[in-house]
Amino acid sequence: MITLLDKTKVYAGRLKDPERLIASSSGGAFTALSDVFLVKGYAVACAVYDYNQKKVIYKLLTSPEERNMARGSKYIQSLPGNIFAECKSWLDQNPDKELLFVGLGCQAEGFRKFAEMKGIRSRVYIVDLICHGSASPLIWSQYAQSLEDRYGGQIEFLTFRDKRKGWPTAAVVINGKRIPIKKYMKVYYNRCISRPSCHVCPFATTERQVDITIGDFWHLEEKIPDFYDANGTSVILLHTNHGYELFEEIMNSMDYRECNTSDCWQLNLEHPTPMFENRSAFWKDYKEHGANYIMKKYGTTTLREKIMYRIKKLEGGGYLIVSNSWILNDADFSERRAA
Ligand SMILES: Cc1cc2nc3c(=O)[nH]c(=O)nc-3n(C[C@H](O)[C@H](O)[C@H](O)COP(=O)(O)OP(=O)(O)OC[C@H]3O[C@@H](n4cnc5c(N)ncnc54)[C@H](O)[C@@H]3O)c2cc1C
Repeated sequence: MITLLDKTKVYAGRLKDPERLIASSSGGAFTALSDVFLVKGYAVACAVYDYNQKKVIYKLLTSPEERNMARGSKYIQSLPGNIFAECKSWLDQNPDKELLFVGLGCQAEGFRKFAEMKGIRSRVYIVDLICHGSASPLIWSQYAQSLEDRYGGQIEFLTFRDKRKGWPTAAVVINGKRIPIKKYMKVYYNRCISRPSCHVCPFATTERQVDITIGDFWHLEEKIPDFYDANGTSVILLHTNHGYELFEEIMNSMDYRECNTSDCWQLNLEHPTPMFENRSAFWKDYKEHGANYIMKKYGTTTLREKIMYRIKKLEGGGYLIVSNSWILNDADFSERRAA
């Protein structure tokens, strides 16, 4: 029987294997968790970027190669399609097997309820991600199309968080040329393109009903300095006995430390990302002028912001002020981490 733990257990963890750690957005918890299923011939349902459709779609994966394609945070709303039904029919066809579902809080909770209704809850392990907000797929697809038109080719590689030295944090590759997508990132982090429902998200909490929550361990260098690693660390929150058992299976592949919910505090574990103050002006601009215009208008970093960023960096602070009332934390953190 699956029961909630009396108290959420919290770990900082990262893959022992440095290559796989570099290939992951944070500490590689997803890789460690999915390995448990893939080595047994089980399946993993999660979101993958589709380069032809320019969309993030859910797929049922059964090999490490397919799983590797799913790595990386995509700051675009993912589309579950028929994945719930696919999971159910895969489990029906494989009665002795289990399945891992990884998704954003809203998607994972939906799957949890579906699994309970369909009587498959004990055969599925459900992991959700800490989430800043799900970005409009329309804006991304138009922006991606405009990059393809401008650089005369299809996007062949996309990363929102590249950890390799010398690479920008977020970039696409077209015809072998690396093109930073900083403007898109700024528009995303400035909350311009999040879905309206993200601003009232009920899953921005440490108390959830899925098995495990994973995310970036922010400010680890301050909270557990002797465990800091510039290549990223995951925060792993265990909510159920099912989650705890799964965590025990990944302990060998990860370095980890037990900690608590105040050590891993971040905004989206306490409340949803607030709505952008000029949201209606932003969308009016978009409807009138299109994706390129809004990228320029809302995605350009001003000289003032650049100076403030430098000052904060010199002070060793972790924040970059990107608008009058909002603090950019995650992007800044990953930039500093990659530096
Ligand atoms: C839109 C979004 C916002 C996020 N905001 C925060 C945040 O504010 N704070 C924080 O700590 N962490 C946030 N994360 C989570 C973080 O960026 C990492 O994805 C997470 O720590 C897992 O890293 P990893 O190294 O274990 O996984 P990786 O190996 O990098 O794998 C990434 C996993 O995320 C899934 N994924 C990627 N994009 C999407 C998507 N659009 N929809 C659904 N699933 C997706 C992949 O399918 C895969 O399972 C966010 C992730 C996304 C996708």
